[in-house]
Amino acid sequence: MNSVIPIQSSNKALGPNIQHERGQREVFCGLTGIIWLHRKIQDAFFLVVGSRTCAHLIQSAAGVMIFAEPRFGTAIIDDRDLSGIADANEELDKVVNQLLRRRKDIKTLFLVGSCPSEVIKLDLARAAQRLNKEFNPHVKVLNYSGSGIETTFTQGEDACLSSIIESLPPAHLNEVANENKKKLLIVGTLADVIEDQMQRIFKDMGLTGVEFFPGRNSQKMPVIDSNTVYLLAQPFLADTAKRIEDRGATRLAAPFPLGVEGTSAWFEAAAGAFEISKEVLEKALAAPRQRALTAIARHKTVLENKKIFFFPDSQLEIPLARFLSRELGMKLTEVGVPYVHRQHLEQELKLLPTDTLIMEGQHVEQQLDRCEQANPDLVVCGLGLANPLEAKGYTTKWSIELVFTPIQGFDQAGDLAELFSRPLFRKEKIAA
Ligand code: SF4
Repeated sequence: MNSVIPIQSSNKALGPNIQHERGQREVFCGLTGIIWLHRKIQDAFFLVVGSRTCAHLIQSAAGVMIFAEPRFGTAIIDDRDLSGIADANEELDKVVNQLLRRRKDIKTLFLVGSCPSEVIKLDLARAAQRLNKEFNPHVKVLNYSGSGIETTFTQGEDACLSSIIESLPPAHLNEVANENKKKLLIVGTLADVIEDQMQRIFKDMGLTGVEFFPGRNSQKMPVIDSNTVYLLAQPFLADTAKRIEDRGATRLAAPFPLGVEGTSAWFEAAAGAFEISKEVLEKALAAPRQRALTAIARHKTVLENKKIFFFPDSQLEIPLARFLSRELGMKLTEVGVPYVHRQHLEQELKLLPTDTLIMEGQHVEQQLDRCEQANPDLVVCGLGLANPLEAKGYTTKWSIELVFTPIQGFDQAGDLAELFSRPLFRKEKIAA
């Protein structure tokens, strides 16, 4: 069906109108998440069980490491596997055996499913079970799907983190579980530099023992139980959040830590849960917030009153739109999002101008028509749309860059603003 179907009428208390459409989509698959996940979890290996296309995607997106041993690879499903001549399970076991016997540094192995492994119905959950019998406790084998069938690229992280949570022992089996002390968990992959900055702010707030998930070490996992309160650092973790809550944890409602306003409110939510006074919070946030305000001010001169159009891709679109409209004065023509998680985004939606058009899902032809009508100054889209749009004279920003680049927190607010101002600044220079 091509029509645009309003599913939620505009309600000023709740935020803008959300519409949705279905049709052809232009998004990357969940394998892409391996690129930032393998950098974060430093003793894990991601083995894609897929085709040469999958191998090509990962290698070209992540680059080839010349000096270091890579921590991702592809077990190629070839014609013999597809036609059923070879036993794909046997082949997979052979590859895993070779890999784990050679690489003693690997402590967690992710078997990552792909479109081809789903097509031949290769059961990677059973494969992980079988391989765990052989390699656990030295290596934990987990599995998740990064397939591009009905997913968008950030869902790869959600599926990966969700598989880790599922594999954790029940909290009551853990020695430190019954301390009965409220603890804070930050959920979502953040660059190490951001994690360190946030830890410093939490420490200045008097909050110690804050854990980040995923961490750098896959063997050191948080204990999640009813004493856990958690803050999402990324807006695309629906399944992970559900599994965390199944273990009794409570989510703190907050906007996402993008820009000065979002980051301040995110820390405020933590302060509220741990009864930290306004004075202590203010003292901890004042200096980094001032640095961030100074850093974004110079980008406002380029971005203010410029029109921006988002094609749905990263699921970061709503928090980014909030930042760009409220802190940099940009005009939102359309905010396309692959999927809107109403609860996780509730605080964000309230902050958007009530006349913002949020389009959930995608019908790329219709959206291109609307983009042309809106005639935006800047278009945020996937790589597949960027070149044709540039050829038509639009200035574009690749949405995938917003996931690869450290953008969360106060000290990154200026860099985040620059990701949007740079292409416009460049265009102005060329035109001058
Ligand atoms: S998982 Fe599917 S969409 Fe992704 S690279 Fe492999 S074949 Fe392509």
